[in-house]
Amino acid sequence: MVIKLPRVTKKRIRADWDDLICPEPSCWTPLDARLDGSLNECPRCGRLLTLTAGLPDVRDTSDRYLPLDAERRRAELLDTLAQRQHLSALDLARVYYAITGDPRRERFLAHLDRAEVRAEGLVSQICEHVPYGGRVLEIGCGSGGFLAAAARVRSDWRLEGVDLASRWLVVAKRRLRELGFVSGSTRTIGSGYTARASIRLIAAQAERLPFRHGWFDAAVADSLVEHLDDPQVVVTELRRVVRPGGRVILWSPNRRQWLDDPHGVRQSRSLRPPCIFSSASPSSPFWKPRCRTAREAASWFDCSAWSSVVVQPASVTRRWLSQAAHGWERLHSVYAVACRQSLLRSLLTEYGPLWQLTAIRSESNPCR
Ligand SMILES: [Zn+2]
Repeated sequence: MVIKLPRVTKKRIRADWDDLICPEPSCWTPLDARLDGSLNECPRCGRLLTLTAGLPDVRDTSDRYLPLDAERRRAELLDTLAQRQHLSALDLARVYYAITGDPRRERFLAHLDRAEVRAEGLVSQICEHVPYGGRVLEIGCGSGGFLAAAARVRSDWRLEGVDLASRWLVVAKRRLRELGFVSGSTRTIGSGYTARASIRLIAAQAERLPFRHGWFDAAVADSLVEHLDDPQVVVTELRRVVRPGGRVILWSPNRRQWLDDPHGVRQSRSLRPPCIFSSASPSSPFWKPRCRTAREAASWFDCSAWSSVVVQPASVTRRWLSQAAHGWERLHSVYAVACRQSLLRSLLTEYGPLWQLTAIRSESNPCR
């Protein structure tokens, strides 16, 4: 089946660019004061700023799978399909995989279906550290599982979700719509949320974020670093946008883990146990993420800009772990006991399904 992709048309930038800056490091011009309703580029450096599927798009590059123009057309197509056929987020993802023909689709769909449950553990890790009305960033927000889980728990937070792939932001928008959010790009109120509830989805590069210095109380990224060529650059950008005293939490799959995480693909046939819970072949013609160890991740944060860097097994919930282990309910009890013992905790950090890194931004700012 040949699907004709619509052409991208330039759309007006609207007020939902509030508080954003040009992501060009030599520029960083505030956009909110300059917008006149017809602007589609940075007034200072000329960088293109557009809307894709109704969402702010400040990218000048795309991911490894599609060139930027094709990626934007794909997102517009999915957005149109979602609106015309009233598709759920999961159905929309099925449509996407039907277009791409990615053989890993069943694993990714299961991953997407569990995303919100998985993110509950991540939300719990920042909940008490972000004040009322605080700003929280997720980089690599994908289909919006964390944003949805966070919005359920803390409707007062101002959430910003960034992803390099706008087609996944369209899926995230559907997920949030199912939660009562009217649009991902404007400040809207869903039933059951307070008037402060706010989520914005932005297509941007993790290395060049369109946010002011020290803007966020917390930033999280789950399954991001294994996709990056140079994670150090992203950590430097996190250092810029997280306020002194703010916190960063990273989750990433271990390459030697034994669950069926589609991002934790086999790097080589040696030194890795069989994927016990996998029903799919790990071989694929598609680009494979490069899993990093927690120890390697900690080395990106060794600058004095961070007052504390801790690695540990990820604080996953019982519900997610049993789902990921295909219903093995007792696994979480074993996991929780192991996390309390020093040696086993170290082993789980290396061999568990996910490692977690928590870094606290220094109150002083020697590295900027
Ligand atoms: Zn600029």
